Amino acid sequence: MPSLKSWNTLGVECEADVLHEAHQLDDLKQAFQEGGRDLLLLGAGSNVVLPRRYAGHVCALRIRGFECEEVGGASAVVTAMAGESWHAVVRRTLGSGWCGLENLALIPGTVGAAPLQNIGAYGVELADRMKSVLVYDARDETVSELGIEECAFTYRSSRFKEMPDPAIVILGVRLLVSRAALIVDQYPDVRRELTRLGTQGRASARAVAEAVMRVRRRKLPDPRRIGNVGSFFKNPVVSQTKAAELLSCEHLVAHAGVGGCKLSAAQLIDLCGWKGSRRAGVGVWQRQPLVLVNLGGAHGADFLDMAARIRRSVEERFGVTLELEPRIVEPLE
Ligand SMILES: Cc1cc2nc3c(=O)[nH]c(=O)nc-3n(C[C@H](O)[C@H](O)[C@H](O)COP(=O)(O)OP(=O)(O)OC[C@H]3O[C@@H](n4cnc5c(N)ncnc54)[C@H](O)[C@@H]3O)c2cc1C
Repeated sequence: MPSLKSWNTLGVECEADVLHEAHQLDDLKQAFQEGGRDLLLLGAGSNVVLPRRYAGHVCALRIRGFECEEVGGASAVVTAMAGESWHAVVRRTLGSGWCGLENLALIPGTVGAAPLQNIGAYGVELADRMKSVLVYDARDETVSELGIEECAFTYRSSRFKEMPDPAIVILGVRLLVSRAALIVDQYPDVRRELTRLGTQGRASARAVAEAVMRVRRRKLPDPRRIGNVGSFFKNPVVSQTKAAELLSCEHLVAHAGVGGCKLSAAQLIDLCGWKGSRRAGVGVWQRQPLVLVNLGGAHGADFLDMAARIRRSVEERFGVTLELEPRIVEPLE
């Protein structure tokens, strides 16, 4: 039985019935024919919590392709296929002088999974640069292009995450990039790095990417060395009334937005005293308590147990429910 331990960045053991690798559309069709509706799609496995045993077929998306088509001199449409590394796409576009993806540098994973949770970092999310998503429907074996409105992107979510359809595969994305840099540098960490780089106030897109990468390398554990899936929790969005109630008795970070007030999950977890905690092979990362790490030998269930304890304590102290960010794969048994 194939082991998926090296196929997920948490580094948890998971045995599946069959593992397919789709390098082209025909491989994907074949995987669906053999695996049926329970086919589990995997990119780089950097946002999944796998069970010990997955009694079904798994298909790793490896369909490659990258194209950058200039539109009228000042902008371009980048078409990247599902199996490309997201960071490689960011590097390639920046390397050719196209701006727009710099804040999303160094996010692990593949292009195909990026729309699922509308990846975002340091003030920019995928939806801000998205033109369309190419999808394959295994029911009638057709490929179509969905416009941005059809993808229903929201904070770390989309229709692909909210209404998962096992027959739909994201085959690629079309992104809009431009020659002129629209610098997004409101995050204090990024601004500090830009100052260190000596470019603050006249930063280029490449400088922003460099600053973002430095911040990420400092704060986040490298999944090649310490198993993790980045943030295990989303930042909670609460009503203005709830935020006002909390802010009247606690010094909390809060950003008012369209759907309510966004709180910092890291701060709530930290205030509950979890930073640096360890249990059953799972640790809460000292430099960023949103991140749970595999200290060695932990299973998916150990991560879920630690996450449940953290959620409970945040709920008890603040009356705020934290949502999990990665996909929790059910065992199918
Ligand atoms: C150190 C670290 C830092 C991170 N930082 C960030 C960050 O700043 N911002 C952020 O948003 N995320 C972040 N993440 C999370 C992760 O990088 C992203 O969610 C990424 O898009 C996941 O890509 P993947 O290929 O690894 O997806 P996987 O983990 O392989 O899959 C994730 C989900 O997508 C589905 N899926 C995969 N490919 C396809 C496809 N082609 N079609 C349909 N469904 C598919 C899978 O079935 C699964 O449900 C971080 C993770 C790590 C480890």
